[in-house]
Amino acid sequence: MFLPSRLGAALAFATALAVLAAQGAHALEFEVQKVTDRIYVLVSDLGPRSPENYGINATLGLLVTDEGAVLIDSGAAYKAGPVIAAHVARVTDQPIRWVINTGAQDHRWLGNGWFAEHGAEIIALERTVESQKSYAASHLKRLARGIGPERLAGTVPYYADRALPGDEATLTLGGTKVTLLWPGPGHFRDDAVVIVPSEDTIFTGDLVFVERLPGVQGDGTSSIVRDWLASFERIAAMNPAHIVPGHGHACDLARARADTGDYLAWLIDNIAPAVEDFEDLTEVVDRLEASPFEYLANYDQLHRHNVNVTYLQLEAE
Ligand SMILES: [Zn+2]
Repeated sequence: MFLPSRLGAALAFATALAVLAAQGAHALEFEVQKVTDRIYVLVSDLGPRSPENYGINATLGLLVTDEGAVLIDSGAAYKAGPVIAAHVARVTDQPIRWVINTGAQDHRWLGNGWFAEHGAEIIALERTVESQKSYAASHLKRLARGIGPERLAGTVPYYADRALPGDEATLTLGGTKVTLLWPGPGHFRDDAVVIVPSEDTIFTGDLVFVERLPGVQGDGTSSIVRDWLASFERIAAMNPAHIVPGHGHACDLARARADTGDYLAWLIDNIAPAVEDFEDLTEVVDRLEASPFEYLANYDQLHRHNVNVTYLQLEAE
């Protein structure tokens, strides 16, 4: 469904307002952060998924062109669509004509369906779509526990209308060049970043976390710490002025390095010698409990697990 842009935006906004009114006081409130004249960020909670945040304990991005808005990641739930659209309507009257999915985690893409129904084309790298397919069932199950059946209603996997082959693809959306690039594995194995050269900005999705601790997953196929650090360095080498992370506020490269790159490097630097010395895993986890990263949210929930998983990864090398 493609509507003339102003009418489309007005309709989407009206729908959004009606849904918000029906939801009463528990509607999700994003912090809208302006990065450049064309780039905005919708920042949600750093903590766990909840009914209040529709599973969007994450950051979404927005690129405004003269011919429509590009939403970077669609949230985790169909019903969050109008909430997201209402926030977008606060900063632009351009309709959301494109949605780019950076990743395979629930809050990066499971909200696609609402935007597709409201006129947006969904775009992702093919490899990211394959990854979404492999996680969809398990993520939906976990999401149901986190946000409850009422919030999850209507959420079904909707995969990209335009799935781009290869590791890199450049498109022109509304006159603005954007590049989807797979920099290597991150929090998930096949997530991409979105580079907008005219705004000197990279949307990193879950490859960069700020203000909260990155999570190293223990499933053996994603979050390989050495690879993630290499991917981070590939992003850093492009030296963007602005980074829109997957979690936390938009920031500069120094902040992204402090909260993600330095942590991944710290894990490797501290755990690799312990593995080399056959130090007992539980001793290592206890010994490394304190670190310079205790200021990050979710440290108490994730750090010991991260040390544990990293030890096992390095031991397997
Ligand atoms: Zn995430």
